[in-house]
Amino acid sequence: DPVILWFRQDLRLADQPALLAAAEAGPVIPVYVLDDDGPGDWKIGGAQRWWLHHSLASLDASLREKGSRLILRRGPAAEVLTGLMDESGAGGIHALTHYEPWWRKSEAALGDRLCLHDGNQLTRIEDVTTGSGQPFRIYSSFWKAAQGHLPPPHPEPAPRSIPAPSHWPKSETLASWQLLPTKPDWSTGFDTDWTPGEAAGQDRLKAVGELIGTYADARNMPAKEGTTRLSPHLHFGEVSARAAWHATGRHEATSFHQELAWRDFTRGVTLALPDYAEKNGRPRYDTLPWRKGAAAQRDLRAWQQGRTGYPIVDAGMRQLWQSGWMHNRVRMITASFLVKHLLLDWREGERWFWDCLVDADYANNAVNWQWVAGTGVDANMFSRIMAPLTQSEKFDAGDYIRHWVPELKDVPDPAIHDPEDAGCRPKAYPDKIVGHREARERALAANRAV
Ligand code: FAD
Repeated sequence: DPVILWFRQDLRLADQPALLAAAEAGPVIPVYVLDDDGPGDWKIGGAQRWWLHHSLASLDASLREKGSRLILRRGPAAEVLTGLMDESGAGGIHALTHYEPWWRKSEAALGDRLCLHDGNQLTRIEDVTTGSGQPFRIYSSFWKAAQGHLPPPHPEPAPRSIPAPSHWPKSETLASWQLLPTKPDWSTGFDTDWTPGEAAGQDRLKAVGELIGTYADARNMPAKEGTTRLSPHLHFGEVSARAAWHATGRHEATSFHQELAWRDFTRGVTLALPDYAEKNGRPRYDTLPWRKGAAAQRDLRAWQQGRTGYPIVDAGMRQLWQSGWMHNRVRMITASFLVKHLLLDWREGERWFWDCLVDADYANNAVNWQWVAGTGVDANMFSRIMAPLTQSEKFDAGDYIRHWVPELKDVPDPAIHDPEDAGCRPKAYPDKIVGHREARERALAANRAV
């Protein structure tokens, strides 16, 4: 009997334990199911649909080189897969474990038809727990406990060939899924910045060894290419986290390894609290008086469009819109600005990131937003308010700003961080939508009210 190989956020052939197990069990029917029902509000966002289209095309091409192909189906995952089993006479389904709440529901519905394998995280998330068996809520404790389970195993190569079934089930066409934007086509900046797919992910992995020497310092400087930009490849599983771990060529754990382990940590948090993307980790913040109404909507739009009058914030938001990605330091600054300076609900920002990021990831996005907002289980005080202008100077964001906010390209240092205050704001660039001091007081007053 054939077996089904169910691809999800693991669109690769190398270091793919589910593929190896399936190939041993019989002829393999590889399938990707586009499920826009199960995730509800968290169905794949706009930027990631662009990525997914190219990644699936690339996966199909790689499978064909090995005598196989990718079957595409759309609909509720468990239903579609059960139907495909009946149709093809498949004896079972192999897949890698994922922790998004909707995947866990589909897995439960498939029951013992599904055989799950580890391989998408550095550790088994269920293994790194507190003494009482709960996932860690503080990263530093997680990292300490993870030491007993690290380093991860070395990645396995892709199989040479994949046994094909005597009869291929029908596949939908990728074009019929209309994953690419048409009117308007906002993806031109994506094409210049990114190449989705396993081969391009492997190329980025090769760069990790070179980056690692300067990573600890350069990773905070948005004007530099100081980080790996592996995040969309990791989200879609085009490269495995353990391949990224070993790509450093270092035996000792570096700050890069620690960042990579954040991915495992966030999965632990959402395993314990599946609705973490929607609910405050600290219920005390349920009564925080977020701004609502027309003025709040206007400010939200200014933030989304990169027209707040704070150059570092605007540069970040425009990088996000144009390229589907934002530097981590700037993600923190823009997120903090939305939550504290504009006093807008963190979930508004989380949703915008979800739709705009090529690396949008349920656990990473939710845990990081709640961390910045101060509403999360891992404590970062709401009352600690980041000063965007100071941050901009500290992390030397001048060239970054001039790149993403062309109206400011002729503003010299040091005025670039606050051209309005320096008296050299070009007409095309907006005034600040809120003053720093006034925003700070408003946020602190709101915090006192909870
Ligand atoms: P590198 O510095 O090269 O790190 C390597 C990998 O480690 C990353 O690709 C990522 O998989 C992981 N990693 C690094 N930092 C973190 C972190 N803080 N939390 C979790 N994993 C991390 N990351 C996402 O992958 N998806 C998201 O939706 C997402 N949303 C975010 C929202 C906010 C408000 C903030 C502050 C951060 C968010 N991050 C998210 C985390 C981080 O910004 C990105 O992972 C990072 O910028 C990706 O760039 P890189 O691959 O060059 O990172």
